[in-house]
Amino acid sequence: MKASFFARGAALCVLSALLVSCARRSQPLTIIALDTVCSVNAFEDGTKKLYDEIEEALYNIEDTFDATDSNSRLSAINAAAGIGPSPADESITELLLLSEKVGRGTGGAFSPLLGPVIDLWGINTAEARVPDAREIEEALSLTKAEDLEVTGGTVFLKKRGMKLDLGGIAKGYACDVVRGILEEHAVKRAIIDLGGNIAFLGRKEDGTDWICGIKDPNSPNGEPLLKLETAETSVVTSGVYERYFEKDGRRYHHILDPATGRPAESGVLSMTVISPSSTLADALSTALLVLGADETFSLSDTLRRELGADLSFIAICGDGSVYASRSLEGSLSFFNGAGRKISYR
Ligand code: AMP
Ligand code: MG
Repeated sequence: MKASFFARGAALCVLSALLVSCARRSQPLTIIALDTVCSVNAFEDGTKKLYDEIEEALYNIEDTFDATDSNSRLSAINAAAGIGPSPADESITELLLLSEKVGRGTGGAFSPLLGPVIDLWGINTAEARVPDAREIEEALSLTKAEDLEVTGGTVFLKKRGMKLDLGGIAKGYACDVVRGILEEHAVKRAIIDLGGNIAFLGRKEDGTDWICGIKDPNSPNGEPLLKLETAETSVVTSGVYERYFEKDGRRYHHILDPATGRPAESGVLSMTVISPSSTLADALSTALLVLGADETFSLSDTLRRELGADLSFIAICGDGSVYASRSLEGSLSFFNGAGRKISYR
């Protein structure tokens, strides 16, 4: 959070130096929020007024959902665990209800209650370590869905030590909020990129689809592994390469299997979900990375029926294989990989 505050200051300086009120901007908006680099490009419709509104919305979402900031609205609920119900913003109850739905649809692979287990591993902090089985067991006992009570305007964590963490869904929600602002301003075309959560509005200037790169999990800073031609949708990727630490030659990444309390070992290195709802795509990409490729593709029709008709999936696996939904055939290819094959399922 300290880093974010610093970055806010820096972003404000850059903006005030660059902008004239209501002038069109040739540069996208770029700020650090939600623990990632957020960039929004509204091209010819990008004005200071628009970008100011988006910036404020992103910081407001950060102030609501940051589980590591003791002043966030989510932390107020966590602080009342075992004590009593807390008033909750509609955005929090909305995300908790969707989390529950995604959890149910994926056999428990998504849980908003993993806070105690996430804290135990400390991934992405200076305290990262491999906890022992007893510690994991204890932390898991504080993640039971029946101990979470969500009503219209309140949230109650029934046991002391329980902790909500919405890191697996909040960026997708932010992406949908930004898209809503762009639509209110009648922006014709835009790209929203919130660190792996991407949404496209409209099409390119020449009327063709956007080209979205999908990272190579074995070389996330290098050339993309895949390219996807797409428009008017959201593309969200969860990857084991995003946050991790290494100990004794093993990598421990940040996507935890709620069944074991340990980093998921499904064989999938990255899971991409394409859906008009970025919030749904975000929750699903996290959950399906936990479930693995086979379960994802055998569940896809059920997920489409229960959660959203327009859902497609891409799984990149540790053995080099790439699986994708049939709906993507013709729009997905290797970025630079003649000879390799995508298996459509
Ligand atoms: P993402 O990058 O969207 O896949 O989200 C990963 C983040 O979600 C982690 O850093 C945790 O804060 C949280 N998380 C980890 N595992 C899970 C899970 N199985 N269900 C819900 N949230 C999770
Ligand atoms: Mg996610």
